[in-house]
Amino acid sequence: MSKFWSRTAREAKPYTPGEQPNELQVIKLNTNENPYPPSPNTLEAMKRVVNEDLRKYPTPTVDSLKSVIANREGVNDEQVFVGNGSDEVLAFAFQAFFESNEAIKFPGVTYSFYPVYANLYGIPFQEVPLNEDFTINVDGMKQSIGGVIFPNPNAPTGLALRLNQVEKVLQGNPNSVVVVDEAYVEFGAESAVQLVEQYPNLLVTKTLSKSHALAGIRVGYAIGQEELIEGLERIKNSFNSYTINRVSLAGAEAALRDDAYYQETLERVINTRVWFKQSLEELGFEVLDSKANFLFVKPVRVEAEWLYLTLKERGFYIRYFDKSKVRGYVRISVGTDEEMERLLNEISNLL
Ligand code: PMP
Repeated sequence: MSKFWSRTAREAKPYTPGEQPNELQVIKLNTNENPYPPSPNTLEAMKRVVNEDLRKYPTPTVDSLKSVIANREGVNDEQVFVGNGSDEVLAFAFQAFFESNEAIKFPGVTYSFYPVYANLYGIPFQEVPLNEDFTINVDGMKQSIGGVIFPNPNAPTGLALRLNQVEKVLQGNPNSVVVVDEAYVEFGAESAVQLVEQYPNLLVTKTLSKSHALAGIRVGYAIGQEELIEGLERIKNSFNSYTINRVSLAGAEAALRDDAYYQETLERVINTRVWFKQSLEELGFEVLDSKANFLFVKPVRVEAEWLYLTLKERGFYIRYFDKSKVRGYVRISVGTDEEMERLLNEISNLL
């Protein structure tokens, strides 16, 4: 605390990101990164910019990338917004669509950045407890006053809602914005982008961080009807019109044009998730039915916190949420087959 801090700085309750260890030898399964590298074409495109174009500002309207995204998502260019990671897109959505006198709703167990933004922007919120089986309570998400936000698949559970359930939330909130955060959708859930035409209150956010192995260049985007996208543009241009840098723009565009490569890596991650889940279940662990690139796991015979700390000492980073309502659980990102085999071996030895 400093006497120089504004009230906003004093009252901020910042998000605590997963650990980013520097040692190269560790097996890092704590922040849901893609274990495979970006495609060679993606890297080439970024190198070209580094060699030729860094002197110039990026194009603030990011037209070219928007058009590639629009094509891929089957929407118009005007229905696309691009941000510096989907975290930034979400931050802009909180500012553009949620109000300080109207409570928004999100699930009781979810992405912990939502309460952080709500606090930062002075937006009241109501946390809707999950159902017994950890699924999102769809009826509970209806009739919000200020709006709704939830990830699909949810984090950190990995459980996904079907599209008809997402529609129920949309229909239950006709006068407020429903943000569906699809950071992990490519790993097996259904995207709500196809509902955008029908629901003016729907904003879908996506990211290249996971599906396209580009967490390091920070590109995320939103799809919604024009009036929502214009709202986001107003906030962005009041903050930093050049928010996407040239290297990121080139990398994102090249990655989105390189579907075959990324499709294959997605399939690999999904296959690894399937066998790894089964193996943990064979050890007696409880594992939720994840549609994301991570598994939410309740260990048996050992405590979740002990498992997290012990694995860390041995060079395996997984995520443990010490302050959360899900204390008995850990979240494990899906790495390569080799990484998961080594982890499984280590866990088996610890039991
Ligand atoms: N939403 C959810 C549910 C996430 O888990 C994450 C990653 N931590 C994000 C959004 C943000 O991802 P990024 O900013 O890398 O696009």
